[in-house]
Amino acid sequence: MAIVIIRQDGKASQWKALLEKKSQDILIYDFGEEHPKETITMALVWQHPKGSLKAYPNLKCVASMGAGVDFILADSDVSKNIMITRVVDPMLANDMSEFVIACIFSYLKNLPFYGQQELQQRWTRMKYLRKKDVTIGVLGLGELGSTLAMDLQNMGFQVQGWANSKKEAIQTFVGEKELPQFLASTSILICLLPLTKETKNILNKEFLSKLPKGAFVINVARGGHLVEKDLLDLVNSGHLSGASLDVFTEEPLPKDHPFWGHPKIQITPHIASVSSPSSIVPQILENYSRLTKGQPMINEVSVSKGY
Ligand code: NDP
Repeated sequence: MAIVIIRQDGKASQWKALLEKKSQDILIYDFGEEHPKETITMALVWQHPKGSLKAYPNLKCVASMGAGVDFILADSDVSKNIMITRVVDPMLANDMSEFVIACIFSYLKNLPFYGQQELQQRWTRMKYLRKKDVTIGVLGLGELGSTLAMDLQNMGFQVQGWANSKKEAIQTFVGEKELPQFLASTSILICLLPLTKETKNILNKEFLSKLPKGAFVINVARGGHLVEKDLLDLVNSGHLSGASLDVFTEEPLPKDHPFWGHPKIQITPHIASVSSPSSIVPQILENYSRLTKGQPMINEVSVSKGY
């Protein structure tokens, strides 16, 4: 039994060294090196190349090295009997929360406007919003969404969420039926949904039009949630006051994309939150040990739900 690490960002050998430091008795391979394919039972992946998992006839578990698993579920080489796990990392959730809170205050206090104004040496004052002026709606109340919602609530924001099931500590709207009410009462919308067949393209014209005029959108989940042209049209028409986007349909964002330089759309290069090795390594080793003993895995994803 052995582990293979498959990543396209050139960091597989770095991860191999980190894992080996913590456990000398496990065979770990970087997918770029020569290795016996039939011994591999666990693959650690992050945006792996298409077709790369086909090589492993005895694969039992594919472990995402991040919180999302959409890229694994989209891989037709991963059969239904292969377990899929992901990273659950309190530091990742905290980083995400801090990032989104920064986006919220930047919007409330007009910081992007002043950034542009400074370049033109202009001195115009804008009216700013306060916490009491907005209701924050969080789409997805999982590991990341619920941490953010609780942090915002503790700061004194009015917060509500949308999920598949009710949460005790946060006012929750559930499913399609309660969605219109949720959207109609949300002035800052944050997407922290997993990318599934139900949530792909969910942030479209019909959906976003249900937000009140002047609402602001923050997408920090996946580019596949957003129909970019619909958002652009709604910002340009004035229905939405703007957006802060960390994820895109195509990354890096193509040079000629209309989001670049748009005065009401802030762009960051998919950096809202990054899993830390100190969280990933113990979870991977724990799951590898469970796999060898035939025990239930931690942080296993429900393939039928898609998250
Ligand atoms: P979780 O799987 O823990 O939570 C998902 C939440 O979404 C749950 O509350 C779930 O409801 C809800 N949900 C799922 N499908 C639906 C649906 N169809 N309708 C309503 N609610 C739904 O995910 P995480 O919080 O860990 O992560 C969310 C996403 O954030 C990840 O999938 C990833 O794509 C993205 N991400 C982005 C990063 C970045 O840097 N930009 C970094 C890390 C993650 P219920 O609770 O009822 O099951």
